[in-house]
Amino acid sequence: MQLHLYDTKTRGDIAVAMQERPIHIYCCGPTVYRNAHVGNLRTFLLSDLIRRALELSGQKVTLIQNITDVGHMSDDFEAEDKILAQSTVENIDPFEIARKYEEKFHADLALLNIIPADRYPRASECIPMMQELIAKLIANKNAYIGSDGCVYFDAKSYPTYGELSGNRLDALKPGHRFEFSGEDGKRFHADWALWKAAGARKKMIWDSPWGPGFPGWHIECSAMSLKFLDEVVDVHVGGIDLRFPHHENERAQSNSLSGKEIVVLWSHGEHLLFEGRKMSKSSGNVVLLQDVVKKGFDPLAIRLALLENRYRSQMDLSWDSIAAAHSTLRRWRKLVSQSPSISPFPTPEISHAINADLDTPRVIQILREIEKNGKLSAESKIGAFLFADLVLGLRLDHQAAPPPLPNHLAQMLSDREYARDSKNWAESDRLRQELESSGLVIKDGPTAQEWEWR
Ligand code: AMP
Ligand code: ZN
Repeated sequence: MQLHLYDTKTRGDIAVAMQERPIHIYCCGPTVYRNAHVGNLRTFLLSDLIRRALELSGQKVTLIQNITDVGHMSDDFEAEDKILAQSTVENIDPFEIARKYEEKFHADLALLNIIPADRYPRASECIPMMQELIAKLIANKNAYIGSDGCVYFDAKSYPTYGELSGNRLDALKPGHRFEFSGEDGKRFHADWALWKAAGARKKMIWDSPWGPGFPGWHIECSAMSLKFLDEVVDVHVGGIDLRFPHHENERAQSNSLSGKEIVVLWSHGEHLLFEGRKMSKSSGNVVLLQDVVKKGFDPLAIRLALLENRYRSQMDLSWDSIAAAHSTLRRWRKLVSQSPSISPFPTPEISHAINADLDTPRVIQILREIEKNGKLSAESKIGAFLFADLVLGLRLDHQAAPPPLPNHLAQMLSDREYARDSKNWAESDRLRQELESSGLVIKDGPTAQEWEWR
């Protein structure tokens, strides 16, 4: 069975056709004005899962992920460029902001064992490419220069606009949230800016045939996918919130330029909630990978916690589920450490679950059954675990070195020994609670207390 994925446009599962050439995947990357939160990382994990699932079947893959470092406007009333706004807050140059958060993004991906993309093109380095496409769209009459000097895409010029998201043009009323302020020169409310005139803006602007300015966000992804993937995108990945308007607009642009359907399959990951609400800056419930690491959890516990839910359903993460994933990971690594050099053993049930639209919760359930099965030898269990891990990417064959014990915890351990010697049980219990909430597991042996990291 080959990999089947749910396609947003046709609203059903599609088999990803195997190719002699590498399969082309495009994943919308981060806007680098702040740390990626665990919700963003859930979406970036989706392209990694698709790549690993295809590679498991022997298929080569090329993955492109863009870095948005200009042109992504916040959708609040002020409609300010996200990077420029952050550069004012931190009082550093906007490009420095972009490079700083880009580096953090790569560090997060590495901690989550996400295989790097083949290329991470930056929007600011592809301006001529975008200008060339905009000029073509104007020549083809898909775009026009608005009364405010900005260049707009004419939504009505693309006959199947709305097919991806299910939004019909005649149903899109003026004043919807998709309509950003600062786009006053367009002819029709559903049109969008391809090139924005600089106006009073002094930074992050470029010369163009339409005057100094900067590109819109949607044209960036058309340019990158057409250019770096040779006009064929087998699978296009992003978070569900990008389906409209970002991907709807990208589709209209790319297809108008090339005269064909550029994206074969649109794959969207659902949102991550944290303790009941969508993880976002505005909800105030943002969790970063660094927060997880600081609490003493393995960063791959987050990967496991995310995989315990199907990518296509909203999932609610909590500290309890992260803690549970952390101890499962430890147990599985212990199992594998008995014979880590065993080769992965292809297990059809596992391949089947992966190929059925990335049913990772089922894969994990199969692993739990294998773990408990008293009839299987340790070797065959380990072979199956290592096979699943080719896609799960949990580094099960990796015995993480425990982090060093910080001084304040070492002091608390010694205080607790003293409390026990003095039979001060209340103090000893209080210290145990404090140590355990800092990530340690305490066992009281016959002579002394023993501890390990959770
Ligand atoms: P951004 O850096 O804001 O452009 O977002 C990067 C990616 O994260 C996009 O594909 C978004 O759709 C996705 N995203 C944003 N919030 C969440 C969330 N709470 N859960 C899952 N994905 C998200
Ligand atoms: Zn994009």
